[in-house]
Amino acid sequence: MAQGRETNATQARWRRPIGWALAAVLAYAMPAMARDFDVRHYMARIEPDLQTRSVKGEVSIRFAATVDSTDLIVLDRDGLDIDRVREGERSLSFDQTGRVLKVRLPRPALRGQLREISVSYHGTPRFGLQFHPDKRQVYTLFATTQWLVGVDAPDERASLDLSVVLPAGLKAVGNGYLVGRRSLGKGKELHRWRQTVPMPAYTYGFAAGPFEEASDRGSRVRLRYLGAGYSQNDLRKLFADTGDMLRYFERRAGVPYPGGVYTQALVARTIGQEHAGFALLSEEYGRGVLGDRRDESLIAHETAHQWWGNLVTCRDWTQFWLNEGFANFLAASYMEQRFGRDEYLKQVDGWRRRYERLKEAGKDKPLVFPDWDKPSGDDRAVVYQKGAYVLHLLREDLGEAAFWNGLREYTRAHRGASVTSQDFQRAMEQASGRDLSAFFANWVYPAAPAR
Ligand SMILES: [Zn+2]
Repeated sequence: MAQGRETNATQARWRRPIGWALAAVLAYAMPAMARDFDVRHYMARIEPDLQTRSVKGEVSIRFAATVDSTDLIVLDRDGLDIDRVREGERSLSFDQTGRVLKVRLPRPALRGQLREISVSYHGTPRFGLQFHPDKRQVYTLFATTQWLVGVDAPDERASLDLSVVLPAGLKAVGNGYLVGRRSLGKGKELHRWRQTVPMPAYTYGFAAGPFEEASDRGSRVRLRYLGAGYSQNDLRKLFADTGDMLRYFERRAGVPYPGGVYTQALVARTIGQEHAGFALLSEEYGRGVLGDRRDESLIAHETAHQWWGNLVTCRDWTQFWLNEGFANFLAASYMEQRFGRDEYLKQVDGWRRRYERLKEAGKDKPLVFPDWDKPSGDDRAVVYQKGAYVLHLLREDLGEAAFWNGLREYTRAHRGASVTSQDFQRAMEQASGRDLSAFFANWVYPAAPAR
């Protein structure tokens, strides 16, 4: 996702202070809890109500125990109210104290054995599902467990079959490919998507609205653009570099874009949010790009997340710089090849100045730091700006060949997996033939506690 107004000067006007949205998002940013099971697949049907800003849903969760035996399944439900939990036709007893759902299995799940429970629920999401009834738009932002009961941890990957009941006649996007769309009568339509490559739950989502739609071909990948209040020409114009971006990031990642279609939708209000296979940007931001092509680095940032963030994911939120510092840095490097070195250096200078301010204010931290439960704006700047700045320093230090080879090998080796900074360090050491422990100790890791 985008960070907010601090990213760089040219985009400042598109990025509102994040306030509750990102503060709440990062309130999730706790180290992942150890789990006794691994989710393999979600099959969900949800129905948002634009007028009441509420949602009801049912999700079947297929999982396997990762311990010899367990009879307790703990799921994240955020504020959702659980109506019923079943295994087959049998109702199970459950507890929904706090923000989790605890389900007692009548017979324990054994290691590796596939089991499936289904959960019915309803609720009024605080921000994970955004309702704009005036614009007939509804879309998801980051906090998946505000509309889908599941496991909200970046190291938990599963496939998804998502059906969403929407007002008839809207254009929509969801993860993976569209399985189908059919009328349910009474002004409702069911859209169904399937994400077959397992992905972390925070990349799940959809967006719907009375959008105009345009498409392009970016080599192998179909590019789809959605936005209300835009002509098809404008959509094609403002997203014109997307195919070039995909090809650039594929080259840097050494991994092809993982899917057949990449969709970008301009929605009522967002700071920018990546999902598996699509990105949401704001209508206002889109108009800015039409005014000045060089504002497109946020498009590049969200596109870069398809590799760094979605395909290679931080193992827990203390390693979040591996998503956001990387997306910032890779977007700037795209801007460099598109508009020239000065455009890149302008961004580097912005990161460096933000980092200097952090130091002066005594708010500097290593890129990996444990106290993620209440991140401040300065903490976000550590992850987004200092993170990108440190990648720039490493690039300068190692030189072009070693740096980009290392980044590519890191991405290839860990695609479809969750990573820590050690994984990145090892890849860069291998590519450069150098011991980088001093560099990483200086910039990345928290100091060992004093004895
Ligand atoms: Zn981001």
